[in-house]
Amino acid sequence: MRHEQIEMHPTRWGDPARAQALPAEARGLVEMVFGVDDRPAVAEQPLTPPVIEAAALAALEGAVGAGHVLTDDATRRLRTRGKSTPDLLRARAGDLTDAPDAVVRPATHEEVAAVLAVAVEHRLAVVPFGGGTAVTGGLVAQREGFAGVVSLDLVRMKRLLAVDHVSMTATLEPGLRGPEAEELLAAEGLTIGHFPQSWEYASIGGFAATRSSGQSSAGYGRFDALVVGLTVATPIGRIDLGTAPANAAGPDLRQLFLGSEGTLGVLTAVTVRVRRLPEVKVYEGWRWPSFAAGASAIRTLAQAGLLPTVVRLSDEAETAINLADPGAIGGAADAGCLMIAGYEGEPAAVAAKQAAVTAVLTGLGGTPAGTAPGEKWSAGRFDAPYLRDSLLDAGILVETLETATFWSNVDRLYTDVKAALTAHLGEPALVLCHISHVYETGCSLYFTVAAKEGADPLAEWQAAKAAACDAMIHAGATITHHHAVGRDHKPWFAEEIGPVGVFLLRAVKADLDPSGVLNPGVLIP
Ligand SMILES: Cc1cc2nc3c(=O)[nH]c(=O)nc-3n(C[C@H](O)[C@H](O)[C@H](O)COP(=O)(O)OP(=O)(O)OC[C@H]3O[C@@H](n4cnc5c(N)ncnc54)[C@H](O)[C@@H]3O)c2cc1C
Repeated sequence: MRHEQIEMHPTRWGDPARAQALPAEARGLVEMVFGVDDRPAVAEQPLTPPVIEAAALAALEGAVGAGHVLTDDATRRLRTRGKSTPDLLRARAGDLTDAPDAVVRPATHEEVAAVLAVAVEHRLAVVPFGGGTAVTGGLVAQREGFAGVVSLDLVRMKRLLAVDHVSMTATLEPGLRGPEAEELLAAEGLTIGHFPQSWEYASIGGFAATRSSGQSSAGYGRFDALVVGLTVATPIGRIDLGTAPANAAGPDLRQLFLGSEGTLGVLTAVTVRVRRLPEVKVYEGWRWPSFAAGASAIRTLAQAGLLPTVVRLSDEAETAINLADPGAIGGAADAGCLMIAGYEGEPAAVAAKQAAVTAVLTGLGGTPAGTAPGEKWSAGRFDAPYLRDSLLDAGILVETLETATFWSNVDRLYTDVKAALTAHLGEPALVLCHISHVYETGCSLYFTVAAKEGADPLAEWQAAKAAACDAMIHAGATITHHHAVGRDHKPWFAEEIGPVGVFLLRAVKADLDPSGVLNPGVLIP
C-alpha cells in the first residue's frame, strides 16, 4: 500500500516533515492584527513510568502477541490525547499526564475481544485509538478506579474485507485511515466520498465512532448515513448489525454504536455504501451580498433537492480574511460572502446539476465567481491544521467549534455564538464562520477563532468555549454537529438529551460494559 503509516508529530498536526514556520506574507498580516510573539519550543519531557502490573502486561501479550504491547515513551507519547488546540497547548507545555501506560495493537476482532477480557480481569481502562484526531477529549480516559490505562491502537487492522459491486457496499477494518481506505477502494473503481478536514489521518473506525461529517456531505452524506453494517466487540460479546438496506426490526441498534466514542464497544468492521469514482470534479465560487442571502440560497437548493456535492458559505469576516483571496471576488472592502459549490460525478450528470443550480443561484441574486476560488479551496482543503500550528508558534490561539440548528434558528445561533466568543476573547480577536453541512431542514455553523494568547491561553480558551457552548444550548441548537462529545462537551450534552436520555445511556453502558473499562469518563454523562 502506498500510504505507509506516518505518525503525526506529537505536539503538532500531521506529517512532521510538513511542519513549517508562518509564511512571511501571513506573518506580516498577523503582526499587523495581533502582534507576533514567537513561542520557544519546550524540550520533550520524560513520561511518568507505566503503572500496569507485570501480570496484566503478560496477559495483554497473550492476547495480541509479544511485540504488540508497547510501553516505551515514544509510542505512549504518540497515543496521548487528540489534536484539539487545548491538546496541542498541553503537549507543547510538556504536559503529557494523560499518556497511556501501554499501547496494545490487536490484528483481528478476536484479539480485540481478548484484550477486552484481559482489561475486565485486571481492571484496565481501554481507549480505542484510530487516527488520533479527536478534538473533544475522547482519547482521555479516567484513571481513577483502574489499575492502568491501555491505548487500544487499531493500526494493524487495515484490511478491505469485502466489496459488493452489485449492492455497492464495502466492508473495511477500523484502522484504515482516510487515504488508505480510498486507495483500496479506488482500485475497485469506488469511493466512500467522506473527506473531513482530518481525512489524511482519521480512521474508518473513528469516523463511525464520532459520527463524522465530511466536506462533501451534501453529495455523499455524513458518515453515519453511509454506514450500513457494523461489527462490534463488547465486554459481553460480539454483535453484528446491518442485515438489510433498511428494516423495521425494532430500534436501529447501529445507532447505539455510531457516535459511541469507544464507550460501548470497539468497532472492528464497518460496512459502508460506496459510489463510483467520479469522472469529473468541478469546484466554483459564488458571491453573495450577505451571509443571510447566501444562507437563504443554500436553503432553497436543499429544499428543492438540488444540492451540489460540496456546498459551503463563508460569512463576511471569513470571506475577507481566510478562505478567499478578496481580490479574486471583487476587492476586500466589498468581498461579500463566498460560497463554494462543487460537483462530482459523471460528466452529463455534473453538467445537468451545475446548470440547474446555476439557474437557481443566478435567479436569487448570486454572482458567479468562476472556478478559481473553488480550485483554491480544493487545493488547500487539508492545509488549515498546519497553519494552526504555525500560528500557535507565533503566540496566536486558533481553534474551531461547530454546532447545527434548523433554518428558522440559524440567524439567532450565529449571532449568539459569535457574541459569546467575541465577548470572551477580547480585542483583537477574529471570529469567523461558515456553513459547512446542509440539510433540507437546517445546517451546521462552523466557527474559527483567532486571538492573541494571554498569560494562560488554555484557561482563556476554555472560558470562551464554555460561553459559546452555553449560547448553543440556550439557542436550542446541538452541542456538536460532527466533532462528537468526548469529555469536553459532556455537561452540555447532558442538557441537550435531558435526564431520561442520560438514564438511557447509563443503562446501556452498565449492561454492555459492566466493569466500565471502555473509555471511562468519555461521552456518558
Ligand atoms: C484539524 C482537524 C480537522 C477536523 N475536521 C473534521 C471534519 O471536517 N469533520 C469531522 O467530522 N471531524 C473533524 N475533525 C474531528 C476528528 O477528525 C473526527 O472526530 C474523526 O472522525 C476522528 O477519527 P479518528 O480515527 O482520528 O478517531 P480517534 O481520534 O482515534 O478517536 C475518536 C473517538 O472515537 C473512539 N474510537 C476510535 N476508533 C474506534 C473504534 N474502532 N471503535 C470504537 N471507538 C473508536 C476513540 O476512543 C475516541 O473516543 C477534525 C479534527 C482535527 C484535528
